[in-house]
Amino acid sequence: MKQEIVFATNNAHKLSEVSVLIPEKYPLLSLSDIGCTTDIPETAETLEGNALLKATFVSEQYGLACFSDDTGLEVEALDNAPGIYSARYAGDDKNAEANMQKLLKELNGKRNRKARFRTVIALIMNGETHFFEGAVYGIICEQKRGKEGFGYDPIFMPDGYTQTFAELPLSEKNKISHRAKAIAQLVSFLEKNS
Ligand code: IMP
Repeated sequence: MKQEIVFATNNAHKLSEVSVLIPEKYPLLSLSDIGCTTDIPETAETLEGNALLKATFVSEQYGLACFSDDTGLEVEALDNAPGIYSARYAGDDKNAEANMQKLLKELNGKRNRKARFRTVIALIMNGETHFFEGAVYGIICEQKRGKEGFGYDPIFMPDGYTQTFAELPLSEKNKISHRAKAIAQLVSFLEKNS
């Protein structure tokens, strides 16, 4: 039998990344599929906390199995900033271009450009909560490159690559990304437990 699961996001980029990684026997529903238009607040102080807030909201309001992801870009030379503040780094309008420009400015002249994306997924299913995590390490480039992806992708170059995430096709990003690694754990959990 198929097990429908809500992915608590309205981010079309996240949806397209994740939908190709989830087996067909777990049909994915987005927030708009279930008629949820609430901008669920992300007021916790950790990725785990924010992921849990979103999944809990959907599970309590709609009574459906649900997972959500929260991602942060952690930059070593900036004491792991912007971290949980990645979306609003340059202001409340969550503008990706402004966020990248602010980050490039903060790193101006710094030799250490090491960074990692970290994703935490919270799954609420059958009354239980489970967390899954994935990370990818790389560097912040001096300039934006590429048109694929979203968010900070044009300035993040994963270790072992000469292209930024925004220069890689989705199929390649999905082999190594923070989100793909967390989703792989989620899928393995679903295969064992449903
Ligand atoms: P959130 O998980 O949607 O709260 O994302 C936090 C911030 O990180 C937002 O500014 C996103 O655009 C950015 N972000 C999340 N995932 C990625 C990614 O895979 N690549 C680049 N930026 C991302």
